[in-house]
Amino acid sequence: MHELALVEAMIHAVTEEVDRAGVTGPVRDIYLGMGPLACAGPDAIRETFALLASGTRAAGATLHIKRSALNFTCGDCGASGALAEPFDPCPRCGGAVLHLDGAREIQLLSIDVETD
Ligand SMILES: [Zn+2]
Repeated sequence: MHELALVEAMIHAVTEEVDRAGVTGPVRDIYLGMGPLACAGPDAIRETFALLASGTRAAGATLHIKRSALNFTCGDCGASGALAEPFDPCPRCGGAVLHLDGAREIQLLSIDVETD
């Protein structure tokens, strides 16, 4: 249940963020960036969110999930950029030792909060 931990951390980040901003209204929209290799699909994330968010400031918020680009750093030549396919070789040196940055992560991009 990998997505459980991811979603739990995300909700925690959201509630911390609105608390720090001193916002009192409910969270309306949450924008997430999802790494291309994140193992959970958007539907699983939404379902898990609906379960875990109940009773928190984030309850009832709409999740907007965007797949982020596949950013890599080459372990051979140090080149970095975005790959088209997860298993492509390094476009500069052809090396296969690529570190994919955040490819399995879910990032919190922004939050919209009800203000009135
Ligand atoms: Zn390279």
